[in-house]
Amino acid sequence: MKYYSTRDTSVRLTSAEAVKQGLSRDGGLLTPEMIPQIDGEFLQALSTVSYQERAAKVMGLFLTDYTEEELREFAQNAYGPDKFDNPAVAPLWKVNDGAYCLELWHGPTSAFKDMALQMLPQLLSAALRKTGEEKTACILVATSGDTGKAAMEGFADVPQTKIMVFYPKDGVSAVQEAQMVTQEGENVNVCAVVGNFDDAQAGVKRIFSDVSMRKSLADRGYFLSSANSINWGRILPQVVYYVSAYCDLLHQDCLQLGEKMNVCVPTGNFGNILAAYYAKRMGLPINRLICASNCNDVLTDFLRTGVYDRNRPFHTTMSPSMDILVSSNLERLLFDLSGENDREVRGYMEALAADGKYEVSEEIKAALEGQFWGGFCGEPETLDTIARYYKEYGYLIDTHTAVAANVLEQYRRETGDQTLTVFASTASPYKFCDHVLRAIGEVPQGNGTDLLDQLYAVTGIAVPSRLAALKGKARRFEQTAEKAEMENAVQAFLK
Ligand SMILES: *Cc1c(COP(=O)(O)O)cnc(C)c1O
Repeated sequence: MKYYSTRDTSVRLTSAEAVKQGLSRDGGLLTPEMIPQIDGEFLQALSTVSYQERAAKVMGLFLTDYTEEELREFAQNAYGPDKFDNPAVAPLWKVNDGAYCLELWHGPTSAFKDMALQMLPQLLSAALRKTGEEKTACILVATSGDTGKAAMEGFADVPQTKIMVFYPKDGVSAVQEAQMVTQEGENVNVCAVVGNFDDAQAGVKRIFSDVSMRKSLADRGYFLSSANSINWGRILPQVVYYVSAYCDLLHQDCLQLGEKMNVCVPTGNFGNILAAYYAKRMGLPINRLICASNCNDVLTDFLRTGVYDRNRPFHTTMSPSMDILVSSNLERLLFDLSGENDREVRGYMEALAADGKYEVSEEIKAALEGQFWGGFCGEPETLDTIARYYKEYGYLIDTHTAVAANVLEQYRRETGDQTLTVFASTASPYKFCDHVLRAIGEVPQGNGTDLLDQLYAVTGIAVPSRLAALKGKARRFEQTAEKAEMENAVQAFLK
Protein backbone atom coordinates (compact mmCIF):
# COMPACT_ATOMS: atom_id res chain seq x y z
CA MET A 1 0.00 0.00 0.00
CA LYS A 2 1.25 3.46 -0.90
CA TYR A 3 0.74 6.79 0.88
CA TYR A 4 -0.13 10.05 -0.77
CA SER A 5 -0.42 13.66 0.27
CA THR A 6 -3.71 15.34 1.16
CA ARG A 7 -2.52 18.27 -0.97
CA ASP A 8 -1.09 16.31 -3.90
CA THR A 9 -2.27 12.82 -4.81
CA SER A 10 0.53 12.37 -7.34
CA VAL A 11 2.93 11.85 -4.41
CA ARG A 12 3.46 8.11 -3.78
CA LEU A 13 5.49 6.85 -0.82
CA THR A 14 5.87 3.45 0.83
CA SER A 15 4.73 3.21 4.44
CA ALA A 16 8.37 3.19 5.64
CA GLU A 17 9.06 6.40 3.71
CA ALA A 18 5.87 7.96 5.05
CA VAL A 19 6.86 7.18 8.66
CA LYS A 20 10.40 8.47 8.13
CA GLN A 21 9.32 11.67 6.41
CA GLY A 22 6.43 12.51 8.75
CA LEU A 23 4.96 15.28 6.61
CA SER A 24 4.70 15.56 2.83
CA ARG A 25 7.04 18.13 1.25
CA ASP A 26 4.03 20.09 -0.05
CA GLY A 27 2.88 20.60 3.54
CA GLY A 28 0.10 18.00 3.21
CA LEU A 29 -0.41 15.00 5.48
CA LEU A 30 0.57 11.54 4.29
CA THR A 31 -2.47 9.33 4.05
CA PRO A 32 -3.08 5.73 2.90
CA GLU A 33 -4.30 5.50 -0.70
CA MET A 34 -7.02 3.05 0.33
CA ILE A 35 -8.68 1.95 3.57
CA PRO A 36 -8.45 -1.82 4.10
CA GLN A 37 -11.71 -3.48 5.13
CA ILE A 38 -12.34 -5.77 8.09
CA ASP A 39 -15.34 -8.06 8.62
CA GLY A 40 -17.08 -10.00 11.36
CA GLU A 41 -14.77 -12.94 11.01
CA PHE A 42 -11.73 -10.71 11.53
CA LEU A 43 -13.26 -9.17 14.67
CA GLN A 44 -14.33 -12.55 16.03
CA ALA A 45 -10.81 -13.88 15.58
CA LEU A 46 -9.26 -10.88 17.29
CA SER A 47 -11.67 -11.01 20.21
CA THR A 48 -9.84 -13.96 21.76
CA VAL A 49 -6.23 -12.77 21.36
CA SER A 50 -3.99 -10.34 23.25
CA TYR A 51 -3.78 -6.60 22.63
CA GLN A 52 -0.32 -7.08 21.14
CA GLU A 53 -1.65 -9.60 18.63
CA ARG A 54 -4.53 -7.27 17.72
CA ALA A 55 -2.05 -4.44 17.14
CA ALA A 56 0.12 -6.53 14.80
CA LYS A 57 -2.94 -7.65 12.79
CA VAL A 58 -4.57 -4.24 12.40
CA MET A 59 -1.33 -2.38 11.66
CA GLY A 60 -0.28 -5.04 9.18
CA LEU A 61 -3.26 -4.13 6.99
CA PHE A 62 -1.74 -0.67 6.43
CA LEU A 63 2.00 -1.26 6.73
CA THR A 64 2.50 -3.64 3.86
CA ASP A 65 6.27 -3.17 3.70
CA TYR A 66 6.69 -4.38 7.29
CA THR A 67 6.48 -8.12 7.93
CA GLU A 68 4.00 -9.63 10.35
CA GLU A 69 6.91 -10.93 12.47
CA GLU A 70 8.33 -7.42 12.73
CA LEU A 71 5.01 -5.93 13.77
CA ARG A 72 4.43 -8.67 16.31
CA GLU A 73 7.84 -8.04 17.84
CA PHE A 74 7.25 -4.26 17.92
CA ALA A 75 3.90 -4.77 19.64
CA GLN A 76 5.51 -7.01 22.27
CA ASN A 77 8.16 -4.37 22.93
CA ALA A 78 5.70 -1.50 22.97
CA TYR A 79 2.92 -2.94 25.11
CA GLY A 80 4.67 -5.50 27.31
CA PRO A 81 4.42 -5.73 31.13
CA ASP A 82 7.63 -3.71 31.59
CA LYS A 83 5.89 -0.79 29.88
CA PHE A 84 2.17 -1.10 30.65
CA ASP A 85 0.85 -1.71 34.16
CA ASN A 86 -2.30 -3.49 32.99
CA PRO A 87 -2.15 -6.77 31.03
CA ALA A 88 -5.15 -5.70 28.91
CA VAL A 89 -3.06 -2.63 27.85
CA ALA A 90 -6.18 -0.56 27.06
CA PRO A 91 -8.87 -1.93 29.42
CA LEU A 92 -12.52 -0.87 29.50
CA TRP A 93 -14.04 0.32 32.76
CA LYS A 94 -17.80 -0.12 32.89
CA VAL A 95 -19.65 2.98 34.07
CA ASN A 96 -23.09 1.48 33.41
CA ASP A 97 -24.76 -0.64 30.70
CA GLY A 98 -24.58 2.21 28.21
CA ALA A 99 -21.14 3.71 28.87
CA TYR A 100 -17.65 2.28 29.03
CA CYS A 101 -14.49 4.21 29.73
CA LEU A 102 -11.51 3.16 27.60
CA GLU A 103 -8.42 3.65 29.79
CA LEU A 104 -5.55 4.68 27.55
CA TRP A 105 -3.11 5.79 30.25
CA HIS A 106 -1.56 2.57 31.55
CA GLY A 107 1.73 3.21 29.75
CA PRO A 108 5.03 4.58 31.10
CA THR A 109 4.02 8.27 31.14
CA SER A 110 0.37 7.86 32.26
CA ALA A 111 -1.11 9.61 29.21
CA PHE A 112 -2.63 8.16 26.05
CA LYS A 113 0.27 9.45 23.96
CA ASP A 114 2.16 6.30 25.02
CA MET A 115 -0.19 4.15 22.93
CA ALA A 116 1.40 5.60 19.80
CA LEU A 117 4.77 6.79 21.06
CA GLN A 118 5.83 3.39 22.34
CA MET A 119 5.27 2.12 18.79
CA LEU A 120 6.49 4.99 16.59
CA PRO A 121 10.24 4.70 17.46
CA GLN A 122 10.21 1.08 16.40
CA LEU A 123 8.42 1.84 13.15
CA LEU A 124 10.91 4.64 12.51
CA SER A 125 13.99 2.54 13.32
CA ALA A 126 12.80 -0.14 10.93
CA ALA A 127 12.01 2.55 8.34
CA LEU A 128 15.61 3.85 8.52
CA ARG A 129 16.81 0.31 7.84
CA LYS A 130 14.31 -0.37 5.07
CA THR A 131 15.09 2.86 3.23
CA GLY A 132 18.88 2.53 3.62
CA GLU A 133 19.08 5.78 5.59
CA GLU A 134 22.52 6.41 7.05
CA LYS A 135 21.92 9.72 8.76
CA THR A 136 20.71 10.02 12.35
CA ALA A 137 17.13 11.18 12.80
CA CYS A 138 16.88 14.21 15.07
CA ILE A 139 13.37 14.43 16.41
CA LEU A 140 12.22 17.89 17.47
CA VAL A 141 9.11 18.17 19.59
CA ALA A 142 7.17 21.17 20.86
CA THR A 143 4.92 19.99 23.65
CA SER A 144 2.13 21.31 25.82
CA GLY A 145 3.04 18.60 28.32
CA ASP A 146 2.15 15.02 27.45
CA THR A 147 3.69 14.48 24.02
CA GLY A 148 7.21 15.56 25.02
CA LYS A 149 7.58 13.10 27.85
CA ALA A 150 5.94 10.25 25.94
CA ALA A 151 8.17 10.88 22.91
CA MET A 152 11.36 10.90 25.00
CA GLU A 153 10.31 7.76 26.82
CA GLY A 154 9.74 6.08 23.46
CA PHE A 155 12.94 7.30 21.80
CA ALA A 156 15.34 7.07 24.78
CA ASP A 157 18.48 5.21 23.65
CA VAL A 158 16.94 4.14 20.32
CA PRO A 159 19.94 3.81 17.95
CA GLN A 160 20.33 6.31 15.13
CA THR A 161 17.96 8.80 16.79
CA LYS A 162 18.27 11.91 18.95
CA ILE A 163 15.38 13.77 20.46
CA MET A 164 15.01 17.32 21.74
CA VAL A 165 11.87 18.58 23.46
CA PHE A 166 10.81 22.19 23.96
CA TYR A 167 8.08 23.01 26.48
CA PRO A 168 6.58 26.36 27.57
CA LYS A 169 8.32 27.38 30.79
CA ASP A 170 5.19 28.14 32.78
CA GLY A 171 2.72 26.17 30.71
CA VAL A 172 2.95 22.59 32.01
CA SER A 173 1.82 20.94 35.24
CA ALA A 174 4.37 20.31 38.01
CA VAL A 175 4.17 16.56 37.47
CA GLN A 176 4.62 16.99 33.72
CA GLU A 177 7.71 19.14 34.25
CA ALA A 178 9.21 16.70 36.74
CA GLN A 179 8.60 13.88 34.26
CA MET A 180 10.48 15.70 31.52
CA VAL A 181 13.49 17.10 33.36
CA THR A 182 14.27 13.73 34.97
CA GLN A 183 14.17 11.81 31.66
CA GLU A 184 16.95 9.25 31.26
CA GLY A 185 18.76 8.32 28.05
CA GLU A 186 21.95 9.41 26.30
CA ASN A 187 20.19 10.76 23.21
CA VAL A 188 17.60 13.03 24.86
CA ASN A 189 17.52 16.74 25.67
CA VAL A 190 14.90 19.05 27.16
CA CYS A 191 14.66 22.81 27.09
CA ALA A 192 12.11 25.20 28.59
CA VAL A 193 11.11 28.09 26.34
CA VAL A 194 10.24 31.52 27.69
CA GLY A 195 6.77 31.84 26.18
CA ASN A 196 3.63 29.78 25.64
CA PHE A 197 3.04 26.59 23.65
CA ASP A 198 2.47 28.49 20.41
CA ASP A 199 5.90 30.13 20.81
CA ALA A 200 7.58 26.74 21.28
CA GLN A 201 5.64 25.32 18.33
CA ALA A 202 6.47 28.29 16.09
CA GLY A 203 10.16 27.91 17.00
CA VAL A 204 10.19 24.24 16.02
CA LYS A 205 8.41 25.00 12.74
CA ARG A 206 10.96 27.73 12.01
CA ILE A 207 13.81 25.26 12.51
CA PHE A 208 12.12 22.72 10.23
CA SER A 209 11.76 25.24 7.41
CA ASP A 210 15.27 26.75 7.81
CA VAL A 211 17.10 25.54 4.70
CA SER A 212 20.58 26.54 5.86
CA MET A 213 20.06 24.79 9.18
CA ARG A 214 18.95 21.63 7.39
CA LYS A 215 22.05 21.77 5.23
CA SER A 216 24.44 22.27 8.12
CA LEU A 217 22.80 19.40 10.00
CA ALA A 218 22.95 17.16 6.92
CA ASP A 219 26.68 17.88 6.61
CA ARG A 220 27.07 16.58 10.14
CA GLY A 221 24.99 13.46 9.47
CA TYR A 222 21.56 14.47 10.78
CA PHE A 223 18.09 14.93 9.33
CA LEU A 224 15.14 16.44 11.17
CA SER A 225 12.04 14.39 11.89
CA SER A 226 8.80 14.84 13.78
CA ALA A 227 6.96 12.82 16.40
CA ASN A 228 3.84 14.99 16.30
CA SER A 229 0.50 13.43 15.49
CA ILE A 230 0.74 14.49 11.86
CA ASN A 231 2.98 11.40 11.43
CA TRP A 232 1.00 8.40 10.17
CA GLY A 233 3.03 6.27 12.58
CA ARG A 234 1.22 8.09 15.41
CA ILE A 235 -2.32 7.71 14.02
CA LEU A 236 -2.22 4.04 13.08
CA PRO A 237 -1.40 2.60 16.55
CA GLN A 238 -4.42 4.55 17.80
CA VAL A 239 -6.77 2.82 15.36
CA VAL A 240 -5.92 -0.41 17.17
CA TYR A 241 -7.52 0.42 20.51
CA TYR A 242 -10.92 1.18 19.01
CA VAL A 243 -10.90 -2.19 17.27
CA SER A 244 -9.65 -3.73 20.51
CA ALA A 245 -12.40 -2.10 22.58
CA TYR A 246 -15.03 -3.52 20.22
CA CYS A 247 -13.43 -6.96 20.48
CA ASP A 248 -13.49 -6.77 24.28
CA LEU A 249 -17.17 -5.81 24.27
CA LEU A 250 -17.90 -8.72 21.94
CA HIS A 251 -15.89 -11.12 24.06
CA GLN A 252 -17.70 -10.01 27.22
CA ASP A 253 -21.12 -10.30 25.50
CA CYS A 254 -21.81 -6.60 25.99
CA LEU A 255 -22.81 -6.37 22.34
CA GLN A 256 -23.55 -8.70 19.43
CA LEU A 257 -21.34 -8.96 16.37
CA GLY A 258 -22.37 -6.21 13.96
CA GLU A 259 -24.12 -4.13 16.61
CA LYS A 260 -22.91 -0.53 16.57
CA MET A 261 -21.25 1.47 19.33
CA ASN A 262 -20.63 5.20 19.66
CA VAL A 263 -17.20 6.61 20.42
CA CYS A 264 -16.63 9.84 22.36
CA VAL A 265 -13.16 11.43 22.37
CA PRO A 266 -11.65 14.42 24.23
CA THR A 267 -10.11 16.22 21.29
CA GLY A 268 -7.27 18.64 20.66
CA ASN A 269 -5.29 18.09 17.49
CA PHE A 270 -7.97 15.71 16.12
CA GLY A 271 -5.54 12.75 16.08
CA ASN A 272 -7.34 10.45 18.48
CA ILE A 273 -10.81 10.91 17.04
CA LEU A 274 -9.43 10.63 13.50
CA ALA A 275 -8.14 7.18 14.44
CA ALA A 276 -11.69 6.26 15.49
CA TYR A 277 -12.95 7.56 12.15
CA TYR A 278 -10.49 5.35 10.28
CA ALA A 279 -11.65 2.38 12.37
CA LYS A 280 -15.22 3.16 11.29
CA ARG A 281 -14.12 3.47 7.65
CA MET A 282 -12.47 0.05 7.91
CA GLY A 283 -15.85 -1.40 8.78
CA LEU A 284 -15.76 -1.39 12.59
CA PRO A 285 -19.43 -1.02 13.60
CA ILE A 286 -19.43 2.57 14.87
CA ASN A 287 -22.55 4.73 14.84
CA ARG A 288 -21.57 8.25 15.97
CA LEU A 289 -18.20 9.88 16.62
CA ILE A 290 -18.68 12.38 19.42
CA CYS A 291 -16.04 15.09 19.45
CA ALA A 292 -15.57 16.65 22.91
CA SER A 293 -13.79 19.98 23.32
CA ASN A 294 -13.05 22.25 26.27
CA CYS A 295 -13.93 25.95 25.97
CA ASN A 296 -11.59 26.17 22.97
CA ASP A 297 -14.66 25.11 21.03
CA VAL A 298 -13.56 25.67 17.43
CA LEU A 299 -14.36 22.04 16.52
CA THR A 300 -17.82 22.17 18.09
CA ASP A 301 -18.70 25.14 15.89
CA PHE A 302 -17.15 23.49 12.86
CA LEU A 303 -19.13 20.28 13.26
CA ARG A 304 -22.34 22.24 13.73
CA THR A 305 -21.92 24.81 10.94
CA GLY A 306 -19.28 23.57 8.49
CA VAL A 307 -17.29 26.76 9.12
CA TYR A 308 -13.85 26.41 10.66
CA ASP A 309 -12.83 29.72 12.22
CA ARG A 310 -9.78 30.03 14.40
CA ASN A 311 -10.26 33.79 14.87
CA ARG A 312 -11.31 33.67 18.51
CA PRO A 313 -9.66 34.02 21.91
CA PHE A 314 -7.34 31.25 23.06
CA HIS A 315 -8.29 29.93 26.51
CA THR A 316 -5.81 28.34 28.90
CA THR A 317 -7.77 25.62 30.65
CA MET A 318 -7.33 22.81 33.16
CA SER A 319 -7.29 20.36 30.22
CA PRO A 320 -4.21 21.89 28.53
CA SER A 321 -3.62 19.09 26.02
CA MET A 322 -6.83 20.22 24.33
CA ASP A 323 -6.01 23.93 24.28
CA ILE A 324 -5.63 24.22 20.55
CA LEU A 325 -7.23 26.28 17.82
CA VAL A 326 -5.73 24.65 14.74
CA SER A 327 -6.42 20.91 14.74
CA SER A 328 -3.92 19.67 12.16
CA ASN A 329 -5.36 16.22 11.63
CA LEU A 330 -8.71 17.56 10.49
CA GLU A 331 -7.03 17.86 7.09
CA ARG A 332 -7.03 14.07 6.72
CA LEU A 333 -10.76 13.94 7.45
CA LEU A 334 -11.49 16.66 4.88
CA PHE A 335 -9.43 14.77 2.33
CA ASP A 336 -11.43 11.60 2.88
CA LEU A 337 -14.84 13.30 2.98
CA SER A 338 -14.11 15.29 -0.18
CA GLY A 339 -13.59 12.05 -2.12
CA GLU A 340 -9.79 12.50 -1.87
CA ASN A 341 -9.92 15.82 -3.66
CA ASP A 342 -6.43 17.29 -3.13
CA ARG A 343 -7.29 20.57 -4.85
CA GLU A 344 -10.27 21.15 -2.61
CA VAL A 345 -8.22 20.41 0.52
CA ARG A 346 -5.46 22.72 -0.67
CA GLY A 347 -8.05 25.46 -1.05
CA TYR A 348 -9.30 25.04 2.54
CA MET A 349 -5.78 25.06 3.92
CA GLU A 350 -4.81 28.13 1.94
CA ALA A 351 -7.88 29.94 3.24
CA LEU A 352 -6.99 28.86 6.79
CA ALA A 353 -3.46 30.22 6.38
CA ALA A 354 -4.65 33.48 4.83
CA ASP A 355 -7.84 34.26 6.80
CA GLY A 356 -7.81 31.76 9.67
CA LYS A 357 -11.08 30.48 8.30
CA TYR A 358 -12.80 28.29 5.69
CA GLU A 359 -16.21 26.81 4.92
CA VAL A 360 -16.53 23.27 3.62
CA SER A 361 -18.74 22.10 0.73
CA GLU A 362 -22.36 20.98 1.15
CA GLU A 363 -21.25 17.37 0.52
CA ILE A 364 -18.78 17.51 3.40
CA LYS A 365 -21.33 19.17 5.67
CA ALA A 366 -23.80 16.38 4.98
CA ALA A 367 -21.20 13.71 5.64
CA LEU A 368 -20.16 15.35 8.92
CA GLU A 369 -23.72 15.62 10.09
CA GLY A 370 -24.37 11.94 9.60
CA GLN A 371 -21.27 10.72 11.38
CA PHE A 372 -20.09 13.29 13.92
CA TRP A 373 -21.48 15.23 16.84
CA GLY A 374 -19.59 18.05 18.53
CA GLY A 375 -19.93 19.53 22.01
CA PHE A 376 -17.83 21.36 24.55
CA CYS A 377 -17.48 21.49 28.32
CA GLY A 378 -16.53 24.58 30.34
CA GLU A 379 -14.27 24.74 33.39
CA PRO A 380 -16.87 24.55 36.20
CA GLU A 381 -18.61 21.68 34.41
CA THR A 382 -15.28 19.84 34.13
CA LEU A 383 -14.76 20.02 37.91
CA ASP A 384 -18.38 19.07 38.52
CA THR A 385 -18.09 16.00 36.29
CA ILE A 386 -14.97 14.79 38.12
CA ALA A 387 -16.80 15.23 41.43
CA ARG A 388 -19.92 13.39 40.24
CA TYR A 389 -17.97 10.47 38.79
CA TYR A 390 -16.03 10.14 42.01
CA LYS A 391 -19.12 10.32 44.19
CA GLU A 392 -21.49 8.23 42.11
CA TYR A 393 -19.15 5.58 40.77
CA GLY A 394 -16.07 5.80 43.03
CA TYR A 395 -14.15 6.36 39.79
CA LEU A 396 -11.55 9.08 39.55
CA ILE A 397 -11.04 10.72 36.15
CA ASP A 398 -8.68 13.44 34.96
CA THR A 399 -9.72 16.80 33.53
CA HIS A 400 -9.52 15.70 29.85
CA THR A 401 -11.56 12.57 30.44
CA ALA A 402 -14.11 14.65 32.35
CA VAL A 403 -14.65 16.79 29.25
CA ALA A 404 -15.53 13.65 27.27
CA ALA A 405 -17.77 12.27 30.02
CA ASN A 406 -19.64 15.57 30.21
CA VAL A 407 -20.08 15.97 26.45
CA LEU A 408 -21.39 12.41 26.26
CA GLU A 409 -24.09 13.37 28.79
CA GLN A 410 -24.97 16.42 26.68
CA TYR A 411 -25.16 14.25 23.55
CA ARG A 412 -27.56 11.84 25.24
CA ARG A 413 -29.79 14.64 26.47
CA GLU A 414 -29.95 16.40 23.12
CA THR A 415 -30.32 13.42 20.80
CA GLY A 416 -31.93 10.76 22.98
CA ASP A 417 -29.51 8.27 21.41
CA GLN A 418 -28.87 5.47 23.91
CA THR A 419 -26.38 3.48 21.81
CA LEU A 420 -23.65 1.88 23.91
CA THR A 421 -20.78 4.39 23.99
CA VAL A 422 -17.07 4.02 24.61
CA PHE A 423 -15.42 7.23 25.76
CA ALA A 424 -11.69 7.67 25.79
CA SER A 425 -9.85 8.33 29.05
CA THR A 426 -6.65 10.01 27.97
CA ALA A 427 -4.68 10.65 31.17
CA SER A 428 -4.34 9.36 34.70
CA PRO A 429 -5.90 11.71 37.26
CA TYR A 430 -2.47 11.76 38.93
CA LYS A 431 -1.08 13.88 36.10
CA PHE A 432 -3.40 16.72 37.08
CA CYS A 433 -3.55 16.31 40.88
CA ASP A 434 -4.10 19.96 41.58
CA HIS A 435 -7.40 20.30 39.66
CA VAL A 436 -8.58 16.83 40.58
CA LEU A 437 -8.08 17.53 44.29
CA ARG A 438 -10.02 20.76 44.03
CA ALA A 439 -12.77 19.02 42.09
CA ILE A 440 -13.35 16.52 44.89
CA GLY A 441 -13.40 19.26 47.50
CA GLU A 442 -9.82 19.23 48.80
CA VAL A 443 -7.39 22.11 49.09
CA PRO A 444 -4.11 21.20 47.35
CA GLN A 445 -1.24 21.30 49.89
CA GLY A 446 2.35 21.82 48.84
CA ASN A 447 3.51 21.65 45.27
CA GLY A 448 4.94 19.44 42.58
CA THR A 449 5.00 15.80 43.43
CA ASP A 450 3.71 16.35 47.02
CA LEU A 451 0.23 16.40 45.55
CA LEU A 452 0.57 12.79 44.45
CA ASP A 453 0.70 11.78 48.13
CA GLN A 454 -2.20 14.00 49.00
CA LEU A 455 -4.44 12.62 46.24
CA TYR A 456 -3.52 9.11 47.33
CA ALA A 457 -4.19 9.87 50.99
CA VAL A 458 -7.65 11.18 50.10
CA THR A 459 -8.74 8.55 47.56
CA GLY A 460 -6.66 5.44 48.30
CA ILE A 461 -6.33 4.93 44.53
CA ALA A 462 -2.85 3.65 43.65
CA VAL A 463 -0.38 6.17 42.22
CA PRO A 464 1.07 4.90 38.91
CA SER A 465 4.50 3.57 39.90
CA ARG A 466 6.48 5.73 37.47
CA LEU A 467 4.87 8.88 38.81
CA ALA A 468 5.52 7.79 42.41
CA ALA A 469 9.17 7.19 41.48
CA LEU A 470 9.59 10.79 40.28
CA LYS A 471 10.12 11.99 43.82
CA GLY A 472 13.53 10.43 44.28
CA LYS A 473 14.75 11.28 40.81
CA ALA A 474 17.56 13.68 39.97
CA ARG A 475 16.78 16.59 37.66
CA ARG A 476 19.02 16.23 34.62
CA PHE A 477 17.96 19.25 32.58
CA GLU A 478 17.80 22.87 33.71
CA GLN A 479 18.13 24.67 30.37
CA THR A 480 15.89 27.60 29.53
CA ALA A 481 15.97 29.45 26.21
CA GLU A 482 14.44 32.59 24.82
CA LYS A 483 12.35 31.96 21.68
CA ALA A 484 15.09 33.29 19.43
CA GLU A 485 17.67 30.94 20.97
CA MET A 486 15.96 27.67 20.07
CA GLU A 487 18.08 27.15 16.93
CA ASN A 488 21.26 27.55 18.96
CA ALA A 489 19.99 25.07 21.53
CA VAL A 490 19.49 22.47 18.79
CA GLN A 491 22.93 23.19 17.28
CA ALA A 492 24.58 22.85 20.69
CA PHE A 493 22.79 19.56 21.36
CA LEU A 494 23.97 18.09 18.05
CA LYS A 495 27.61 19.20 18.47
C1 LIG B 1 -3.04 14.90 23.45
C2 LIG B 1 -4.13 14.74 24.42
C3 LIG B 1 -5.48 14.92 24.05
C4 LIG B 1 -5.90 15.35 22.66
O1 LIG B 1 -5.68 14.34 21.71
P1 LIG B 1 -5.66 14.71 20.13
O2 LIG B 1 -5.23 13.48 19.47
O3 LIG B 1 -4.65 15.83 20.00
O4 LIG B 1 -7.02 15.15 19.76
C5 LIG B 1 -6.46 14.68 25.01
N1 LIG B 1 -6.13 14.35 26.28
C6 LIG B 1 -4.84 14.20 26.67
C7 LIG B 1 -4.55 13.85 28.10
C8 LIG B 1 -3.80 14.38 25.77
O5 LIG B 1 -2.53 14.23 26.18
